Amino acid sequence: MSISVPPHIADLHAYVPGKPVKEVERELGLTSTVKMASNENPLGPSPRALEAARRCLDDIHIYPEGSGFYLCKALSAHFSVPEEQIILGNGSVEIIEIAAKALVGPGRNAVISEGAFAMFSIACKAMGAPVKEIPMRDRTHDLEAMEAAIDGDTRLVFVANPNNPTGTYVPLRLVERFLERVPPDVLVILDEAYKEFVESPDYGSAQPLMERFPNLMCLGTFSKLHGLAALRIGYGFAQPEVISFLHKVRSPFNTNSLAQMAAMAALEDREFAERYIALNRIEREFICRELQGMGLRITPTVTNFVLLDVPISGKDFFEKLLREGFIVRPMAGSGFPSSVRVTFHLREYNERFLEATKKVLGL
Ligand code: PMP
Repeated sequence: MSISVPPHIADLHAYVPGKPVKEVERELGLTSTVKMASNENPLGPSPRALEAARRCLDDIHIYPEGSGFYLCKALSAHFSVPEEQIILGNGSVEIIEIAAKALVGPGRNAVISEGAFAMFSIACKAMGAPVKEIPMRDRTHDLEAMEAAIDGDTRLVFVANPNNPTGTYVPLRLVERFLERVPPDVLVILDEAYKEFVESPDYGSAQPLMERFPNLMCLGTFSKLHGLAALRIGYGFAQPEVISFLHKVRSPFNTNSLAQMAAMAALEDREFAERYIALNRIEREFICRELQGMGLRITPTVTNFVLLDVPISGKDFFEKLLREGFIVRPMAGSGFPSSVRVTFHLREYNERFLEATKKVLGL
């Protein structure tokens, strides 16, 4: 083939998503596979969101409202953020890409953590930007080391709080101290995709710090708590000047009308959200205790998943578990070759997963 791409594209490693249920079943001839690989909501979508999406179906011949006016209004009321400080994305992943597109490139670097959400590095490298990947401390973002790595060419810093795949978090006071030290011309993106699941008293969304730090951006998503992963809808909060330059590189109609309307309904569906938070709290406690009881090492988690270390390679464990009908996520790509990430499911499936784990590891 004579088509060539620049070296920074040729060298990129594509994001590896969780293996879809249908693919596993087709390949292995299984029928009732359970997916615990993508941090999806085991209760399904918010029922109110589903109803709202259905109501939009008759109008899908009309382009969506480009900036998501009504959803921005709803987010503004829900989170007490002015509307002009909100941008929507086709999943929060798209906002990560939009920010990278607007801010970094050759000679304009990004500082991120090793073992952080993989899309930070992919999005920046895709722009031809140098990426400084800073080692973690105890599988947690090392904000002091990240601050020290910022140089005159740094334009963007990403922090996932809590982080995927480690499930760890940085206390709000350390985020605040970090922001006090980062130069004001470096945009700091706090990706808070799992914020709703955290119950530790020293955790907090960085959103209240936005007034003090105009270079702060916070991201959230409807994919996890609200169960809308397939609709692809996420949001970002930042100062109006930041939002306006992000809009310049956002593609028109990036979020669809079903997603916008479903997300508005999901925001109001407190009952559903609270039910999932409560279930997740109980199942997190249960699975982590049981895994530790088997003598396995876990990374303490505040999210809806856990990073589990196994005595064989994560890939081998993943493949053996597939044959037992469970899909988990091997994490070698994020620098954890002996670990898998497991999303908490309903009790029945969690119990069966634990049994399968015992069997596969001969425990
Ligand atoms: N940020 C983090 C930390 C995530 O784990 C994920 C989902 N894997 C996302 C962002 C992306 O979520 P979405 O694009 O579905 O909103």
